[in-house]
Amino acid sequence: MGTGYGFICTRCKKKYRVSFGSGFCPELGYEEAIKDIRLGKYGGDWKVLYEYIPNLVMDPDYTVYICECGHWENEMDVTLYAPNNPVDIQMRIDKECEKYGDEGKYFYEAWLSAEERNEQYHILREYNRICPKCRSIMKKISYEEVEWLSCPECGEINRRSIFTLSD
Ligand SMILES: [Zn+2]
Ligand SMILES: [Zn+2]
Repeated sequence: MGTGYGFICTRCKKKYRVSFGSGFCPELGYEEAIKDIRLGKYGGDWKVLYEYIPNLVMDPDYTVYICECGHWENEMDVTLYAPNNPVDIQMRIDKECEKYGDEGKYFYEAWLSAEERNEQYHILREYNRICPKCRSIMKKISYEEVEWLSCPECGEINRRSIFTLSD
């Protein structure tokens, strides 16, 4: 369910890596992230929207956010999506919950493919990730940019050295 890239710094020899996608067990990460939303980790907006609009889903895939200043972070994309047809979504979730208990909701939501999500939901709100170094809004990295990422230790820009697939 994802792709990873490894780097070895040519200057300080530090090894670092970034991953895209949601890993081997998406529902665990998803449930954690929902807890974080409820605790306000992504701000009051996310907490309130999630509380008041039933069955919102968020994008659980990891991606890299990069800032103009060069700082980058490998974080979960927490874009919020709302159901196109709330009654239909509620029925699908109820069906999963009959099988798996309350966790069924997370199974359903975490395992949605991007295509299914785009079919059944629409984007409600995109998250503005703020750079902790310079307070600018960071943007999602492009495929070309991920070939080269700066070393988190010394700042040297390195080309990716290993290509790994986790599924
Ligand atoms: Zn910055
Ligand atoms: Zn380095």
